[in-house]
Amino acid sequence: MNNKYDLIYEGKAKKVFSHDDADKVIIEFKDDATAFNALKKAKFEGKGKLNCLISAKIFKLLINNNIPTHFLELYNENTMIAQKIKVIPLEVVLRNTAYGSLCKQTTIKSGTVFAKPLIDFYLKNDELNDPLITKDRIELMKILSSNDLNLIIELTLKINAILKIFFKKIGLQLVDFKLEFGYDYKNKILLGDEISPDNCRLWDVNKENGTIVSLDKDRFRNDLGDLMEAYAEINRRINDSTEFNP
Ligand code: UDP
Repeated sequence: MNNKYDLIYEGKAKKVFSHDDADKVIIEFKDDATAFNALKKAKFEGKGKLNCLISAKIFKLLINNNIPTHFLELYNENTMIAQKIKVIPLEVVLRNTAYGSLCKQTTIKSGTVFAKPLIDFYLKNDELNDPLITKDRIELMKILSSNDLNLIIELTLKINAILKIFFKKIGLQLVDFKLEFGYDYKNKILLGDEISPDNCRLWDVNKENGTIVSLDKDRFRNDLGDLMEAYAEINRRINDSTEFNP
């Protein structure tokens, strides 16, 4: 990144830099991958670029469907310009199909497809290992007002409806995903962070025999094969989709 900009924050997968305009930031996507609260780490050359390009396309799709997001434009292939937001310390997970931590913590069988999506909240706190948190605890801790919490739930359900249809069109089952939101300078809630195979579970399901191929970070978490090949495949399908080739 051009050293004319100050590094404001560095997370596990992204660096955030200042922008000439104080209401904006420049977000650089790193090649690092972490799992299990950073207990497992690796670097994949080109992952930052793919996640940045995929996220930019998904943000555009959401913006076209009236979802308020922080995304403004790509700066280069692994960097985007976004509205500066005060990040709400919550991970909002929506699940269409049971998998991952849900099946470790409950008796729900892996692969169960839900009639109605399930939304789980986790407190963003590495020291506490991002615990599952309730709506009442969120209000008690004054993380969000009841109104804003309802708005976030409404936005998450709308985002799911848009993404589920989009990914189905490109042959993928949207199992679950994690979102983060924040407040802009006008105190408006915007979708932040990224939407990529790092924080979405995307399954390529074989229609004939039902076998599932994960095209997401589970390849890294569970050693299921080449991560970059999966991310490149997602990027290719998005770029080839009718959505982006009208
Ligand atoms: N997720 C994420 N960041 C996290 C935890 C989960 O992006 O710190 C995403 C994950 O990629 C998946 C969804 O949220 O798409 C649900 O993850 P789950 O709670 O099942 O946790 P996991 O099994 O990954 O530990």
